[in-house]
Amino acid sequence: MDEGVGGEEYLFKIVVIGDSAVGKSNLLSRFARDEFDLHSKATIGVEFQTQVVDIEGKEVKAQVWDTAGQERFRAVTSAYYRGAVGALIVYDISRRTTFDSIKRWLDELNRNKSDLENIRDVSVEEGKRLAEEEGLFFIETSALDSTNVKTAFQIVIRAIYDNYK
Ligand code: GDP
Ligand code: MG
Repeated sequence: MDEGVGGEEYLFKIVVIGDSAVGKSNLLSRFARDEFDLHSKATIGVEFQTQVVDIEGKEVKAQVWDTAGQERFRAVTSAYYRGAVGALIVYDISRRTTFDSIKRWLDELNRNKSDLENIRDVSVEEGKRLAEEEGLFFIETSALDSTNVKTAFQIVIRAIYDNYK
């Protein structure tokens, strides 16, 4: 959730998952553009659609992500899930195997929860503020899921290098 200056602004990342050809892309295109394609091809590249929804008078932006057809190879990357606050797990009522897969998708979803984000006690803003006050760089990292690890070191090393050159 992002809080905009002066007003409230909500941006929610939502992922659509489920077995191949269950109708994920069409669900999204129907929602976002009121379009349906009987012969839709596997999605090429990760794509998302942003839709503004009015909830209790507030403008809520839903950024809904569609897989790149990776579901076929059980290869949806953790980057796809990163930052997501909701998910639609889709199955096809005419193919039981796709229903049987739901548990597996749930497992994957739970495995990809942002590292400790659900029990966060220090906000990003607080971290940024302290860094600004003290004239430091700020970056959050997770060694568990590799987030920003390389970047954090690169920033420090680069800064030292810039001082020496
Ligand atoms: P994805 O691989 O999960 O993204 O599935 P697609 O959205 O590409 O849909 C796969 C196939 O199912 C396409 O031929 C669609 O036309 C068809 N399809 C998608 N949604 C529906 C639906 O609600 N009803 C029916 N009957 N077919 C659908
Ligand atoms: Mg698709």
